[in-house]
Amino acid sequence: MRLVLLGPPGAGKGTQAREINQRLAIPHISTGDMFREAIKRGTPLGRQAEVYIKGGRLVPDEVTIGLVQERLVQPDCRNGFLLDGFPRTVAQAEALDSWLSSRGERLDAVIDIEVPRDALLERLTGRRVCRQCGATYHVRYNPPAVPGKCDACGQDLVQRADDTEATVSKRLDVYNEQTAPLVNYYRQRGLLKEIDGSQAIPEVILAIGRALGRDWQ
Ligand code: ADP
Ligand code: AMP
Repeated sequence: MRLVLLGPPGAGKGTQAREINQRLAIPHISTGDMFREAIKRGTPLGRQAEVYIKGGRLVPDEVTIGLVQERLVQPDCRNGFLLDGFPRTVAQAEALDSWLSSRGERLDAVIDIEVPRDALLERLTGRRVCRQCGATYHVRYNPPAVPGKCDACGQDLVQRADDTEATVSKRLDVYNEQTAPLVNYYRQRGLLKEIDGSQAIPEVILAIGRALGRDWQ
């Protein structure tokens, strides 16, 4: 299946992507993770992206589209993929559509996870991520067994540099201005599956399964 996960920062895309990835065995492609990895390694792409990410702004389309196209031609994407955090602008969505159609392919569904703004603020400022494996936790809603340590690999949990209150607020504004128009874009194309992301984590994955015609009990 070729899927896109849409929704504001903090909606739970990364959290649900890990679940979907296990159930459908398709690669989870997060542009945010790819940029953070590039920043960690100090590559030219990382240096270019860092200034935008720190400011809560979007990395320019041409950089992001090129990065995703390079990833999608990898052999593991032949039978499908799960895009998380891409597309984020209409120009990115159009580039994805035309790239897929040039290969005789199309998206199967766009899963739109919606959560009210107040809850997003709380989720993002309470988010903690493993600096080793990238697993995501929440100090209140999804705490690790040992405070500050990753359940999966035991490494330290850290707060993302862009999860501070000021940057979070900017990112939510950027989402409303530049990414929210994609909801209509995909609705008009008959691809949109709307999911209530304010439910607890296990309920959200069940709702996504139902939207895709699967029973994930
Ligand atoms: P996104 O990838 O959309 O930015 P994340 O998956 O990183 O969002 O989730 C943001 C934060 O909210 C994380 O701390 C995560 O543990 C928490 N979270 C995710 N889904 C839920 C949920 N359904 N209820 C409460 N907290 C959640
Ligand atoms: P995320 O991990 O999805 O929250 O993304 C973190 C940051 O990476 C965003 O705030 C943007 O600065 C950048 N980013 C991720 N995906 C994209 C994209 N598709 N287009 C532009 N910038 C992106």
